[in-house]
Amino acid sequence: MKLNIPDQQITLVCPNCDSTFFSIDENEIVTCGTCNLKLHKDELIEQNNIADKIDTNQIAKDLAKKMKNIFKGKGWK
Ligand SMILES: [Zn+2]
Repeated sequence: MKLNIPDQQITLVCPNCDSTFFSIDENEIVTCGTCNLKLHKDELIEQNNIADKIDTNQIAKDLAKKMKNIFKGKGWK
């Protein structure tokens, strides 16, 4: 999963299998698309050791945007 952050792009990887394919639900629970590991977005960021490097508020916004895209067409508002 790539997050677009001004000036840098950060790729989050699954701490279990190094996959970069994730989906996120409305509770900000991230599910790995490869091994189905579930963890909270903040935990994933922590596991990737990027918490100090990034503005987590920006990530939350970025994920919220992705989430809207995921739920688009499914009656999500
Ligand atoms: Zn995984």
